[in-house]
Amino acid sequence: MKIIDGKSVSQAVKERVRNEIAEKGLKIGLAVVIVGNDQASRVYVNNKKKACELCGITSFEYALPEETDEAQLLELVDTLNKDPRVNGILVQLPLPGHIDEKKVIGHISPEKDVDAFHAVNVGRIMIGDYAFLPCTPAGVMELIHSTETEISGKECVVIGRSNIVGKPMAMLLLHESATVTICHSKTKDLADVCRRADILVSAVGKAGFVTADMVKEGAIVIDVGMNRNSQGKLCGDVDFESVSGKCSFITPVPGGVGPMTIAMLMENTLRAGKLQSL
Ligand code: NAP
Repeated sequence: MKIIDGKSVSQAVKERVRNEIAEKGLKIGLAVVIVGNDQASRVYVNNKKKACELCGITSFEYALPEETDEAQLLELVDTLNKDPRVNGILVQLPLPGHIDEKKVIGHISPEKDVDAFHAVNVGRIMIGDYAFLPCTPAGVMELIHSTETEISGKECVVIGRSNIVGKPMAMLLLHESATVTICHSKTKDLADVCRRADILVSAVGKAGFVTADMVKEGAIVIDVGMNRNSQGKLCGDVDFESVSGKCSFITPVPGGVGPMTIAMLMENTLRAGKLQSL
C-alpha cells in the first residue's frame, strides 16, 4: 500500500501556478468574502490567503459581520464582478442562515466563479466543455493521476451526492471513461456496491464510515471526508488502520484531499485571469 501525499502533489500544483504567473508576468487577483465568525471558515480563508501569497496571486479579503444582510452581500459581489483587479471571487460557505446561498452564488459572474458552483459552470461541466472544475473533485483527479493509474474502463464508486463533491466527482470520473456508481443514504447493500470499486471515493462526512470489508483488494481509496473523531482529532471517512492494509493507494486525512482543494483554487484563479485577458 502507498499513501498518496496530498501535500506534495498540491505543492507541485501551486509551483506550476507560481511559475506561470512569474514567467508571464501576470497580474492575478482573488477576492475572498467571509461573512460571520465561523472558526473553520476563518481557517480556510487564512489558508487560501497563504496559498495566494505563495503563488504570487493578490488576495483581497472581505470579512463582513454576521449581521450583514443579503442585499449588502449582493452589492459587494456586484462590485467585485466589475473590478478588473479581481479575476476570481470566492464566497466562503456556509453563509449565515438569513442569506440565500444559491442567490449569492448565482450573482457571481460565471467567468469569476473559481469555485465552479454557479449553475452555468455546473452545466458546462455536465457537457464536458468547462473553464473551471470544482476544486475538491478536481483535486481528487490530480491525486488519482499521481498514481499513474489508467482511469478509463475502471469501476469507480463515489459515496455521497452533494453538489459540491459527490455529483461533480462522478462527472469527472465519467469524463475519463470510468464506469461510475454514485451511492447515498438510500443505497441498498452499500458494502457490496463499494466492493466492486477499483477506485472508491468517499465524501460522506462520517468518521470511520468506510471499513475494510467495503474495499476490494488493491483498490485506490480516496477519502474526502473531514470529520472530528471522539478525541476531537481531524479524520476522514475511512478507517485508515484497517483499509490501508487492503488497498493499493490511500489518501490520509489530514494531508490528502484537503491541501488539493486550495491548490486547485489557485489553478482556477490563474485560468480565470488568463481567460479574462483574451
Ligand atoms: P454533504 O452535503 O453532507 O453530503 C454527504 C453525502 O453523504 C450525502 O449525499 C449523503 O446521502 C451521503 N451519506 C450520508 N450518510 C450516508 C450513509 N449512511 N450511506 C451512504 N451515504 C451517506 O457533504 P459534502 O459537502 O459532500 O462533504 C462530504 C465530506 O467531505 C464532509 O466531511 C466534508 O467536510 C468533506 N469535504 C472536504 C473537502 C476537502 O477539501 N477535503 C471539501 C468539501 C467537503 P444523501 O444525499 O442521501 O443524504
